[in-house]
Amino acid sequence: MAAARPPKTPMKAGRLPVGLFAAQCEECFKWRLISTQEEYEDIRSKMIEEPFTCHRKTETSCNDPPDIDYDTTRTWGIDKPNIPKTPEGFTRRLVLRKNFSKFDAYYVTPTGKTVRSSTEMLAFVEANPQYKDIPLSSFSFAVPKVMEETVPESILKEGLNSSSVKRYKKTKNESAHTD
Ligand SMILES: [Zn+2]
Repeated sequence: MAAARPPKTPMKAGRLPVGLFAAQCEECFKWRLISTQEEYEDIRSKMIEEPFTCHRKTETSCNDPPDIDYDTTRTWGIDKPNIPKTPEGFTRRLVLRKNFSKFDAYYVTPTGKTVRSSTEMLAFVEANPQYKDIPLSSFSFAVPKVMEETVPESILKEGLNSSSVKRYKKTKNESAHTD
């Protein structure tokens, strides 16, 4: 599973929204575009029990050419499997930091408030008891892993002397140990 970003998104906000969602077929390893975020979240929420295959897309089989290639025309993030589906009325957003170091996940609540952590979500539900029946476990701030080889070289070079890239490298080394 991955969330990909088109290469030329305006950067004025400082963060790049995820522009495309794709899932990889377990059988032929081709990438299929998933047209809506809702469908993507549905696939992702039960990825372990129901691995994605081309047949899940209407009129698509493993013999069809891939919808999209995993390459450096976009920066890719690989999502964790089984992130719960976003509760109704809420929207989950993924954005890539401008320096390409990390994705951030946040929720927009039905009241339009932006919530960036479990602690903030707890405070929101306490202040808005009409949502107290939604288990807090339905909200996940787990973010996709930035695939370093798909980060534009210009960004990597630009940041060589900045502290953000030092942090990025540290994170990379840490994840290399767990891989
Ligand atoms: Zn396939």
